[in-house]
Amino acid sequence: MGKKHETPLLDELKKGKWVSFVREIERAAEKSERTEDLLGQVEQSYRDKVTHWKHGGMAGVKGYGAGMVGRFTEFPDKYPGVKECHSMRINQVSGFFYNSDVLRKIANIAEKHGGGLLNLHGSTGDIQVLGLRQSEAEEAFQAYAELGFDLGGGGSDLRTPSCCVGQARCEFANYDTLKICYDLTQAYQDELHRPLFNYKFKFKFSGCANDCVASASRSDMAFIGTWKDSIKINQDEVKNYVKKFNVQKYVIDKCPTKCIWFEEDNLVIDDPNCVKCMHCINKMPKALRPGDEKGASILLGAKAPLVTGPRMGMMFIPFYDILEDSKNNYEWLKQLISNIWDFWDEYGVTRERIGELMQRVGVVTFLEGIGLEPTPEMVDHPRSNPFIKFEDEEAEEND
Ligand code: SF4
Ligand code: SF4
Repeated sequence: MGKKHETPLLDELKKGKWVSFVREIERAAEKSERTEDLLGQVEQSYRDKVTHWKHGGMAGVKGYGAGMVGRFTEFPDKYPGVKECHSMRINQVSGFFYNSDVLRKIANIAEKHGGGLLNLHGSTGDIQVLGLRQSEAEEAFQAYAELGFDLGGGGSDLRTPSCCVGQARCEFANYDTLKICYDLTQAYQDELHRPLFNYKFKFKFSGCANDCVASASRSDMAFIGTWKDSIKINQDEVKNYVKKFNVQKYVIDKCPTKCIWFEEDNLVIDDPNCVKCMHCINKMPKALRPGDEKGASILLGAKAPLVTGPRMGMMFIPFYDILEDSKNNYEWLKQLISNIWDFWDEYGVTRERIGELMQRVGVVTFLEGIGLEPTPEMVDHPRSNPFIKFEDEEAEEND
């Protein structure tokens, strides 16, 4: 069967050795007429350099205010298959653990009710079932519910919390990312399914500063694993690494705070000046390990561009003792979250993320509002502190 739509621009994206989303859409289009029209619509968007999707509109399942993203083509006569092309967000398993049987069932439901396309896992974290029509939504949702899945977040609500594999598989994890992610997901079901916020709010949990779920840049409240005491050094293994590669060039010279060096044959770390960036540990995992007093740093206010520009998260809690708080069902954390949401509810405006609110009212006002005392460790970005103000003359003198 010939192609329904010519796609010379999309064909370019199939060249090269990497997996191509175009090839995957074409495979799905062999079984789905609507996905053929999707190819035509995407080709036209590339040609016109503008999206031809209309967002929003009514798409959802009974009892849920969120979890489906409505999407309609601007050219329903030309691409009738994507007249409605909604996405359903399914709350992913913490840490993205599936077996092949479940994955097959997830895919079969997507093929039966949608355009046969899934997105696992974009920066939202969720499983996204693409190309659904409103008339199919309820049945598709029931099929996923029978498989044990629930809808994720969408719109102005708590978005589906997301975490890295953490202690389940990763030797670098400083806390149980899966446990806290699951706990908060269960605790905030109402906030997840019923949009009552000014705009979206995201939690993301990374077990260490490698930040595999990009929490520092993609979540309003980021939890990044860290430790308080010293990096553990195995000097014998250090010597083995020295035989294999240039430790001075690739590890020591690249330490951001220059707090690691050799004294004769031994590696020395000035731990109070270590910012726990993970670089040296990544390079020499057999020789260096995180310390024993483990917890997480909490950053607030990151976001992708959307309404205003992008922001990285700002450090608010340098060390949160997750293990201790988990014994109290994360009571301290939940109080902090409640304070943040109350302040945002009271003073935020529509479509204002928490980071933008912080910027607008100022960090000191924000801290007063959420009940935190300012501390020097609350840095906006490395080596800067929002509580120290230099007059212009002083700054020039210091230049
Ligand atoms: Fe491992 Fe750290 Fe990545 Fe989590 S963020 S998977 S702990 S390397
Ligand atoms: Fe330096 Fe980063 Fe290693 Fe600390 S973790 S010693 S800051 S490279």
